[in-house]
Amino acid sequence: MELSGLNIKFLPGVGEKKAAVLLEELGIESYEDMLYHVPYKYIDRSKIYKISELNNQLPYIQIKAKIRNLQTTGTGNGQRMTAIAYDESGSLKLVWFKGFKYLTHQLDINQEYLIFGQPSLFNNQLNIVHPEIDNFEKVSPLLVGFQAIYPTSEKMKKAFLNSKTISKIQATIFKTLKIKIPETLPFWFIQQHKLLYLHEALYNIHFPKSPEILRKAIYRLKFEELFYIQLNILKLKYKRKTAFKGHVFITIGDYFNTFYKQYIPFDLTNAQKRVIKEIRQDCGSGKQMNRLLQGDVGSGKTLVAIMCMLMALDNCYQTCLMAPTEILATQHYETVNSMLHELGISVALLTGSTRKKEREAIHQGLQDGSLQILIGTHALLEDVVIFKNIGLVIIDEQHRFGVAQRAKLWQKNNIPPHILVMTATPIPRTLAMTLYGDLDVSVIDELPPGRKPITTLHTYDRKRQDIFRFIEKELEKGRQAYIVYPLISESEKFDFRDLEAGFEQINNYFLPKGYKTGILHGKLKPAEKDAEMRRFVNAETKILVATTVIEVGVNVPNASIMVIESAERFGLSQLHQLRGRVGRGADQSYCILMTSYKISNDSRKRIETMTSTNDGFEIAEADLKLRGPGDIEGTQQSGLTCSLKVANLGKDAIILNEASLVANRILEKDPNLQNEENQIFASQIKRLFKTKITWHYIS
Ligand code: ADP
Ligand code: MG
Repeated sequence: MELSGLNIKFLPGVGEKKAAVLLEELGIESYEDMLYHVPYKYIDRSKIYKISELNNQLPYIQIKAKIRNLQTTGTGNGQRMTAIAYDESGSLKLVWFKGFKYLTHQLDINQEYLIFGQPSLFNNQLNIVHPEIDNFEKVSPLLVGFQAIYPTSEKMKKAFLNSKTISKIQATIFKTLKIKIPETLPFWFIQQHKLLYLHEALYNIHFPKSPEILRKAIYRLKFEELFYIQLNILKLKYKRKTAFKGHVFITIGDYFNTFYKQYIPFDLTNAQKRVIKEIRQDCGSGKQMNRLLQGDVGSGKTLVAIMCMLMALDNCYQTCLMAPTEILATQHYETVNSMLHELGISVALLTGSTRKKEREAIHQGLQDGSLQILIGTHALLEDVVIFKNIGLVIIDEQHRFGVAQRAKLWQKNNIPPHILVMTATPIPRTLAMTLYGDLDVSVIDELPPGRKPITTLHTYDRKRQDIFRFIEKELEKGRQAYIVYPLISESEKFDFRDLEAGFEQINNYFLPKGYKTGILHGKLKPAEKDAEMRRFVNAETKILVATTVIEVGVNVPNASIMVIESAERFGLSQLHQLRGRVGRGADQSYCILMTSYKISNDSRKRIETMTSTNDGFEIAEADLKLRGPGDIEGTQQSGLTCSLKVANLGKDAIILNEASLVANRILEKDPNLQNEENQIFASQIKRLFKTKITWHYIS
């Protein structure tokens, strides 16, 4: 019997209508889907309180009581129903503000009820607002103990799918099952790790009899979930390491050495040195490198990239660097070209707006090998871009690229090139393990010396004039400023008006004082964007008003102020990334987060995180905790998030580490999962990670 093959609509008590809502709202279609729809909290219903024991400090509790003085008062919105609940020890008031019409005819003064809710104090009198109320004798024994509470939506409630109904459906599934739920882990493994059986775990996650068994049930399900993710992704890594040979970079030659001795603009940080060494070892090993380079904004990833490119050139390979936007690609091109042209290295830029003639020359140069370094955007991926002998591909600001696109780079040579993926901002360790577990990781955990930490302030938008005066003072010192507006989607008319109105206000203030301004957004043509950016880089314009098109990469060390309008609308990693545009020079820099007066709790936490730390790794962790993994940039495109049902990457780092160790231990002995005792693993992986893309090509 396959639980995934049993449609929930045929389950007694569900039916077509509810099934449709379950599918639409939660993606639940089968018995299995339903069983893995787990509670988000539990309420202790193992004790029945006496009314005299209650106070307003208690959490949700339940009492056994009769009711009297049932009455409805008020009209319209002010209408409410009240009753007095009493037992032998005392009494308290029950209050309903809505949804009581049905109840008025149901409640019976001779009946004993199990009343459930949170006691609160009103006019110095204890009451319970919107209690749950059930006939005491009729209450399912399942409710006495821990009660599971399931997430529901408005639509579900309208279809009578509240938490209680879900609980009943779960109970019905267990009643209908003729056999135990088939095991998804081998017996020896369950024994070795002292896990509950799947059937027991699933039963107890819905109907826990004690906190101990609930803990065990949760552990089994989380451990299994994370274990399979690790087993799958690490298996890819093992496979790739054996299946593909890599280009061997044997020598550190003239290009690298000459650059290092004569042209390098500053001493490498220790972290940069260590990372370059790691990459060098990897590229010399005979295996193909797949490495993730993590480093905070401004940690100097570009210089590391350049040194690696030189390594490839020294071994007679071509290399390319791919960036997510035209602005960024252009900037990389300029940096690389200015650093390397004296070495006689040929570098070209290829983007969507490269002219046909130039494009053809580039194609020719790549094929005959005269062009050594190609820098560009997605344009690099096109099939017409053919290299003579590419040995290293570097991808900057990784989260903007889809996996399928990256896979294309693999096919640019008959032996796949080494791949170095650089992140825009750090990714929390747990997320890196699940998303990029098949990559080796290098971390730059140190900023270049002499940086002054950026001062981050939060203020309200009605203080805008004060901010303008503050900016003016910095401009007087010769600095420059960014002012960023949220334009989440460039087509949003409403946002666009905000941006334009803001620009006008800024011009009114600053133009008469002799400071030129510029505006940069996605609606401009690439050439216009470029020109605008250039004016700012050359300090012709002192203030750049922009949308998040400047989010990643751009490097203008003279800019010392970053003002972010409607900062509450940005995600944490975006805020951090934007802040990273300043603090690149020797001067004190400022990041000013402007918000409206009223903001949500989550927004407030994001702002507080920003004002309390500059550390990208810390921010990434906070981001994961606040948003949950589903929202983290990159996870959607990666296609690899088999969305987590039970585990939580923000909270379950310890279990993940353990699961990863265990998965590694199994693969070390049996990398292809061919041994008899590992057959369940092999078939589970097939079942869980059905996907059309050939993952072993994914970097
Ligand atoms: P990111 O890691 O965010 O891509 P960049 O590579 O743009 O950072 O580097 C940020 C700035 O730091 C650049 O202006 C770069 O020239 C400078 N930089 C990089 N490495 C060093 C170093 N070792 N010492 C001093 N400055 C450095
Ligand atoms: Mg960068």
